[in-house]
Amino acid sequence: MPQTHGRRSRVAVVTGGASGIGEATCRHLAERNHRIAVLDLDGDGASRVAEELRAHGGEALGLTADVTDRPALDAAFAEIRATFGPAEILVTSAGLVAFDPFENITPERWSRLIDVNLTGTFHCCQAAVPDMVAARWGRIVTISSSSAQRGSPTMAHYAAAKGGVIVLTKSLARAYAPHGITVNSIPPSGIETPMQHRSQAEGDLPANEVMAGTIPLGHLGTPDDIAAAAAFLTSDEAGFITGQVLGVNGGAVL
Ligand code: NAP
Repeated sequence: MPQTHGRRSRVAVVTGGASGIGEATCRHLAERNHRIAVLDLDGDGASRVAEELRAHGGEALGLTADVTDRPALDAAFAEIRATFGPAEILVTSAGLVAFDPFENITPERWSRLIDVNLTGTFHCCQAAVPDMVAARWGRIVTISSSSAQRGSPTMAHYAAAKGGVIVLTKSLARAYAPHGITVNSIPPSGIETPMQHRSQAEGDLPANEVMAGTIPLGHLGTPDDIAAAAAFLTSDEAGFITGQVLGVNGGAVL
C-alpha cells in the first residue's frame, strides 16, 4: 500500500466534492496519498475533480449521487468498496443554502433544507460507519455552519439543519468512540466558494469587503483553510480529538 511521510493511504469519501470546500478537501486528502471518492450531485464536476487528481498522480473516482437518495448512496459506497476498499474517512461537504424570512418558509422548502443538509449527512454517515466499525478505525468530519452556532434571522431552515448536523456529530462521536472512530464538525464562515458567490449575486450576502470587515482577521477564508483543518482532523495524529466543533472563521465572534 502506498505510503507518504510515513502515513498510511486511506480510502476517503468526500461529499460535495465537485465544488468549493469539498473540492479543496479532495485535493488536500489526495496530497496525503489517500484514495479519493469524489461524490456529488454534479456528476460532471465530480468526474472533473477526480480526473484532475489522477492527472497529479492520485487515485480518484468520481461518483454521481444525491445525498438524499439512500439507494443511490448505497450503490455509490458499494462502487467505492469494489474499487478502493472499505471507506475509512468521510467528509460531508454537500450542502444547500437558502435565505428566506421565517414567515415565507414553506413546509416544502423547510423539508428540502433539512433533507439535504441534515438527513443527507445522516445517510452518508450511516453508509460509511459499518466499514469503519469493521476496521476499528475511522474519521468523520461534518461540515456544518457558523449560522448554527449563532442563529440566523433569514436562514432558520438552514441553521436548524446545520445545528442538527452538530448534534448528530457529537452523538456519533460518543456512539463510536469505543470503535476507534472520531467524529468532528467544522462550521465554516465567510469562505469564498461558488456557493458564497451565488448568494452574493442574488443579494443575500454583502460584497467581500463588507463581509471582510466583520471578520477579526480582516479577510475572507478560502476553501483551502477548511480543507487543511479537515485533513488534520482525519489524520492519525488527530486520534484523541472527537465530538469537537472546530471553528475555522477568521476569529468570527459567535
Ligand atoms: P458549493 O461550492 O456550492 O459546494 C457544494 C457542493 O455540494 C456542490 O457541488 C453541490 O452540487 C453539492 N450538493 C448540493 N446538494 C447536494 C446533494 N443533495 N447531494 C450531493 N451533492 C450536493 O458550496 P461550499 O461553499 O463549498 O459549501 C460546502 C459546505 O460548507 C456546505 O455544506 C455549506 O453549507 C457549508 N458552508 C459553507 C460556508 C461558506 O462560507 N462557503 C459557510 C458555512 C457553511 P450542485 O452545485 O450541483 O448543487
